[in-house]
Amino acid sequence: MHYDVAIIGGGPGGYVAAIYLGKKNKKVALIEKGELGGTCLNKGCIPTKVLSHSAEFYSSIRKAKSFGIEVESTSINWEMLMKYKEKVIKTLQKGVENLLRANGVNVYSGEAVLESEKEVKILFNDREQIITADNIILACGSKPLKPPIPGIDLQGVLTSEEILNLRELPSSLAIIGGGVIGLEMAFIFNSFGVKTTVIEMQDRLIPNFDREISEEIKKHLQRAGINIYVNSKVLKIEENSSGLKVVVESEKEIREYAVEKILVSVGRKPDFSSVVKLNIEKNEKGILVNERMQTNIKNVYAIGDIVGKYQLAHVASHEGIVAAKNILGENEKMDYKAIPFCVYSHPEIASVGMSEDEAKRIYGEIKVGKFPFIANGRALTLGQNSGFVKIISEPKYNEILGVHMIGPNVTELISEAVLAIKLECTAEELVNTVHAHPTLSEVTMESAFDLLGIPIHKI
Ligand code: FAD
Repeated sequence: MHYDVAIIGGGPGGYVAAIYLGKKNKKVALIEKGELGGTCLNKGCIPTKVLSHSAEFYSSIRKAKSFGIEVESTSINWEMLMKYKEKVIKTLQKGVENLLRANGVNVYSGEAVLESEKEVKILFNDREQIITADNIILACGSKPLKPPIPGIDLQGVLTSEEILNLRELPSSLAIIGGGVIGLEMAFIFNSFGVKTTVIEMQDRLIPNFDREISEEIKKHLQRAGINIYVNSKVLKIEENSSGLKVVVESEKEIREYAVEKILVSVGRKPDFSSVVKLNIEKNEKGILVNERMQTNIKNVYAIGDIVGKYQLAHVASHEGIVAAKNILGENEKMDYKAIPFCVYSHPEIASVGMSEDEAKRIYGEIKVGKFPFIANGRALTLGQNSGFVKIISEPKYNEILGVHMIGPNVTELISEAVLAIKLECTAEELVNTVHAHPTLSEVTMESAFDLLGIPIHKI
């Protein structure tokens, strides 16, 4: 069988590229060894958001009285929640399957190995088959990374995939790694009553975010009862009578924490299993590509987590469309200037563009505007008034360089800021844009007003 394009991996990178090419009348094969939707749909974005929504819902119910609602009792039915999670995943999987079918994409359920520049061997349970294609897209994603810590393979030490399938809630959990996944899991399990500890090696949580956001979320998580240890390195994990023991070096002191389960969330590594036979240039972070998402082999493209630039589903999908457009003969380049980064904790975090430190390093002098949710009417009606929006601009034209948000629904609010940075908007253009009232989005506008020195709802 010959195709215009063969895509290896059916995650948000691969399946989006397949649909795009299918809509452009290309003959497309998509090979997936696991489930359609990849890590994101099955083991990542979607299941975690089911749990974080449930966790937030649970916390809200317990605060119902302040909204004039009397609730007699609340409890968590973990088994039912797991069933709900499966239902959401299955519904979305079916949706992806239908879209691929409707756009003429041939899906192969097997493991692909690139045999040559134009040949893909597909291994099924009982047989194998070779297909050929003019172009290949590698969209094989990534796998959880286990650092070489003694005891890391003990029972009860879990990856992010394993923790999402726990049969019951543990009494206590230590999370190694205070990055995005670590924080989301900390928020989820702590909300469900699990005694939670986060251990981070660097000097702050989510170190790739703006420093002020890291400090603010740390306060919130601590207030919610989560133990947080930064500048702390896990030396080893051992078994003990109550489950496990984490031995940590923290500010030159050795400390030990007894816990039932441990989650390792220190990052992910690219899945190179499909490219073992071909000389594709790569390093430990991923396959090397140019701006057009092309590898060192002209007709072979790579996108998403296997490239490893940013391990985000929306980046994978966008890179997939860039690769697809180049295959179609356009000259499309991937632009990473306005990528949103979100954390679905409570409060939520969302960020785009440069951090304050980065902007200062590049521009020297910068302008900063900041506005708190506590002064916003809609936030008060929701009973969620913590956090702020911070906008950073260069000083000459007030062009927006970065927007950092922590507060209610900011993972939705960030899209306005993404567009503003993409279109090189100035703070004036943001305040000249009418924002509906009462909405949380007014905080973004007020933050731009603050940057211009005329904050309306601030003394
Ligand atoms: P994947 O989604 O990993 O898909 C790759 C697919 O390729 C897999 O299905 C795999 O089975 C298949 N494959 C691999 N090798 C072969 C082969 N040889 N033959 C056939 N098939 C093969 N990102 C966000 O943007 N937002 C979030 O909220 C978010 N939350 C996350 C939460 C968790 C717990 C985790 C682990 C990740 C999260 N991510 C999130 C990251 C996101 O899941 C990934 O960035 C995204 O899935 C990458 O997409 P991809 O298409 O590159 O790879």
